Amino acid sequence: MTVRRNRKVKILATLGPASETKEQIKQLFLAGADVFRINMSHSDHPTLRSRVAKIREVEKEVGRPIGILADLQGPKLRLGIFKDTKVTLENGSNFTLDMSDKEGDVSRVQLPHPEIFGSVKEGDMLLLDDGKVRLRTIGTAADAIHTEVVTGGTISNRKGISFPDSTLSFSALTPKDRSDLDAAVEADVDWIALSFVQRPEDVAEVRKLSRGRTGILSKIEKPQAVACLNEIIELSDAIMVARGDLGVEMPLEKVPGAQKQITRAARQAGKPVVVATQMLESMITSPMPTRAEASDVATAVFEGADAVMLSAESAAGQFPLESVSMMNRIAEEVEQDPYYENIIYAQRAEPEATGADAISAASRQIAETLNLASIICYTSSGTTGLRAARERPQTPIITMSPINATARRLSIVWGLHCIVSEDAGTLDQMVDRACSTAFSEGFAKPGQRVIITAGVPLGTPGATNMLRIAFVGSDGLGGI
Ligand code: PGA
Ligand code: MN
Repeated sequence: MTVRRNRKVKILATLGPASETKEQIKQLFLAGADVFRINMSHSDHPTLRSRVAKIREVEKEVGRPIGILADLQGPKLRLGIFKDTKVTLENGSNFTLDMSDKEGDVSRVQLPHPEIFGSVKEGDMLLLDDGKVRLRTIGTAADAIHTEVVTGGTISNRKGISFPDSTLSFSALTPKDRSDLDAAVEADVDWIALSFVQRPEDVAEVRKLSRGRTGILSKIEKPQAVACLNEIIELSDAIMVARGDLGVEMPLEKVPGAQKQITRAARQAGKPVVVATQMLESMITSPMPTRAEASDVATAVFEGADAVMLSAESAAGQFPLESVSMMNRIAEEVEQDPYYENIIYAQRAEPEATGADAISAASRQIAETLNLASIICYTSSGTTGLRAARERPQTPIITMSPINATARRLSIVWGLHCIVSEDAGTLDQMVDRACSTAFSEGFAKPGQRVIITAGVPLGTPGATNMLRIAFVGSDGLGGI
């Protein structure tokens, strides 16, 4: 089986109860999911390990590298649990948050974060579930926060809560995050996502703990992080526009501008950027999205984001497969749109003064001028693949790496079709292997030409120094 996408943007799908079995995961992959996200807010370590194992089985069956992102909860505050898993709060009623671990009801629920109680004052607003339900503090005690419901609604087990008016001191990683991070690194995930990053130091800390074994994706979901965006991008391997919490932590109307700012800054730096949250939210309960949601996905694709993400749509909704298919269809359509090329081109970043960038820029230009079938890029660490993608070429890019982890990690990156392939011994072998891969993966037909970039001798990291145009021969190998 060969699976290739007919789009450059990638799709991240969050796993959960609606996508638990190996067969479901495989169907999501076939429908278009390139990377799977395991949300550690809702997954214990056995669940993490079993999901990773299932994804790795699917990977074998479909013969494609699949990225896995473990998303750490971070210092996100969440409610406890309810007797009937959820309650509906009426406007004007009273509701208390306390320290008792008894199951909650319409009058109270546990807030399992004792450190918060001293920091909340009368008048402070409390926002539940990304602000869908709003409470105002009317009184406090050492072990309770009494509130009045300002905007009612239904809330369920372990929904998030934020305190925009209160000053709370956070550390970047909670004890739970540290233990989840260890488990995720041991389970051999490809990416760790760090939630509620506030400072560049937060990223540095995770990098130390992950011991170079995973990529680090910083979720931008606090205004403090937007304020030092470039420093955070510099220290991170990827970025997420985490619009759910961002829209709670800053005025909602500022989120679209922040999305543009973050996407552009990440593209400029050549770091993959994921646009996340509520992209097809109504598909949690409906087989069709709203027109506004379709347009939202399209906007992210037009912006040249590396990936678009599904959260509850694929994890807990009624239509996980339809959500992925819909995202896939929107992405394919947008990338065929006559406006797409111009918009992507307008944001293209200038090459930096390095061999890898000069060769990436040149190979894009040659490939587009000569209408080549693909750009094939030998990259062992993945850096050259990232720089090739930063050029946002029209021509499809194939990356060839001998390292499985590189191929998996690069699966989140715009436009890259990642192949695991042993390094070739000679230049001829390298050309043959590139041509036969482009042929067998459906990117080039006999008689078409491709461009190959590599660092020769192969296996020397950071030494891309070669660019070669080759014909795909009638046997699929490199011909003259
Ligand atoms: P979450 O992060 O789903 O883990 O909250 C994404 C967001 O806040 O948008
Ligand atoms: Mn979040």
